[in-house]
Amino acid sequence: MKRELESILFDTFGYPSFRGDQLDIIKSVINGDDTFVLMPTGAGKSLCYQLPALYLEGVAIVVSPLISLMTNQVNALKQNGVRAEFINSTLEYSDYKRIEESAISGELDLLYITPEGFQGGRVRDLLDDMDISLFAIDEAHCVSSWGHDFREDYLSLGKIKDDYEDIPIIALTATADKRVRSDILSSLQLDEPNVFISSFERKNIHYKVEAKEQVSKQIEQVLKTHSGECGIIYCQTRNKVDTLTKNLQKKGYHAISYHAGLTSLQREKAQKKFERKDDIVVVATIAFGMGIDKPNVRFVCHNGLPKNIENYYQETGRAGRDGEPSFAYMFYGMDDFVISKSFIDNSEMSQEYREISLSKLKMMLELCELNSCRNKFILNYFGEEAKDECDHCDICSNEVESFDATIHAKKVLSTIYYLNSRFGAGQVVDILLGAKNKKIKDYSHDKLSVYGIGTDLSRSDWNLIIRNLILNEYICYSNPEYRTLGLTKKSGKILKGESEFSVTKKLGVVKSHRKAVKTNNSEFEDYDKELFQVLKDHRYKMAKEKGVPPFVIFSDKTLKDLSIKKPRNESEFLDVYGVGKSKSEKYGSIFLELIRCH
Ligand code: ADP
Ligand code: MG
Repeated sequence: MKRELESILFDTFGYPSFRGDQLDIIKSVINGDDTFVLMPTGAGKSLCYQLPALYLEGVAIVVSPLISLMTNQVNALKQNGVRAEFINSTLEYSDYKRIEESAISGELDLLYITPEGFQGGRVRDLLDDMDISLFAIDEAHCVSSWGHDFREDYLSLGKIKDDYEDIPIIALTATADKRVRSDILSSLQLDEPNVFISSFERKNIHYKVEAKEQVSKQIEQVLKTHSGECGIIYCQTRNKVDTLTKNLQKKGYHAISYHAGLTSLQREKAQKKFERKDDIVVVATIAFGMGIDKPNVRFVCHNGLPKNIENYYQETGRAGRDGEPSFAYMFYGMDDFVISKSFIDNSEMSQEYREISLSKLKMMLELCELNSCRNKFILNYFGEEAKDECDHCDICSNEVESFDATIHAKKVLSTIYYLNSRFGAGQVVDILLGAKNKKIKDYSHDKLSVYGIGTDLSRSDWNLIIRNLILNEYICYSNPEYRTLGLTKKSGKILKGESEFSVTKKLGVVKSHRKAVKTNNSEFEDYDKELFQVLKDHRYKMAKEKGVPPFVIFSDKTLKDLSIKKPRNESEFLDVYGVGKSKSEKYGSIFLELIRCH
């Protein structure tokens, strides 16, 4: 069976081998067992039901929560010569009729439907008239009210087991939460399922975190590093989104906004644009998320601190679904923390929930100010063991240095002591740096013995130290509203020399650290860049003509492999990553010609 499955994988999808647990999962489904799959985004969940759908007799029913997700998958499958269709509210009646007929006569391999289909009515009748090979419940976490994407419709999927006892169900999700997981198993009534849980490590994502200094410059640096590539910049508020988009547009970047303040039509347009263009940057609130399965998002940048690690992981996870090296940047500041905290403090949530939210927010800050492996921190947070070091975060690749700051901490604490807890971080730093402004003069702070004793560090270094002191409770906000700094019970330990203090000092902005990132795909990095661009431009034209997103035709990785192998004939073309028989027939001659001319 393995051979047979491998040949379907190669002939239809153009991939040389299975990833991770894919083969075992596929065997489980083919064997008729219920199957539960927990795999991170981009790991390749779709194949786990698409391949059995091709292998087994009958039509596979795929339940997916969003029309946009369905459309993309069905388009991509059709490009690979797979007989797939979807039924949803956007269909014309004549199409509906045609699809219905081919489903009944078994001329389909996969039929995608929305969960409402199970609530009775025409789709439900159709299912009864069909020979069904399996049910695949994609984004299965939507069934759980604990999850972040709960959909009431998903609850009706519990009926599948009652009505179709003998047909195997495969449920798939990327949500790690244990409560969500058990909700899925029980709601769908899975029958002694085979459970496959993959590591959540996103090896191809390089995590990089910096304190905000001049954040617009920092963001621009990211855009320069990734010019011509596609990315997402998350901001905390709609206002920030619109302002940043305007600024970037003025500077000539191809940027668009996305947030819940737009009409649904505007949002849909933005999403389509994002899917179809290769060099576009979406500036968005967290409203931009589900339904994005663009594989070649090369970077996700957080302008401000996410609410918690779950969100951070999910949002950064939208980068690099194609497995190619990708980047997650974050620029954070204490102001984000304070804003989010006051939002939690003033919310209507129960006391318990408030405390949980706050501790989650603190963990997020901790991740930022960590001086050990960020990947490990994230994986441990989700209950997964990890090695002490990875090769895809800024700390492990030595972009961030840890240094002893006990003396500096003492200087900060002394200054706060002299100021009687009546001033904020700005004034403390001004004093340390020996600034000559009006406020210093007015309060005669230039007469203090600590005045000017900190000129060895920059302002941003001092701010970093102060943040770390707050995080570790060596100082606190004596008045949260005015954010004046005060001493705590722990302060004395440093002042008396009983505790040492160290922080991660960020080095200057690293221009491009692509070379520092080791991935399994390094063989793809040495390609003919000019040819790649030619192929990319052509792919864009073809996609536009066909009205599909470019990646549906070929992935970036395929174009790169073409630019390395430069095939000369059809059989060499079939050897290229991501090229199956169907795509070779459709696009082989054009792309071969382009390569020949080049
Ligand atoms: P998920 O649903 O888990 O987020 P997808 O099913 O969308 O991930 O797959 C992510 C990408 O990985 C897609 O571009 C897919 O074609 C690719 N992929 C899946 N399986 C393989 C494989 N065995 N070899 C190469 N690429 C694969
Ligand atoms: Mg998926």
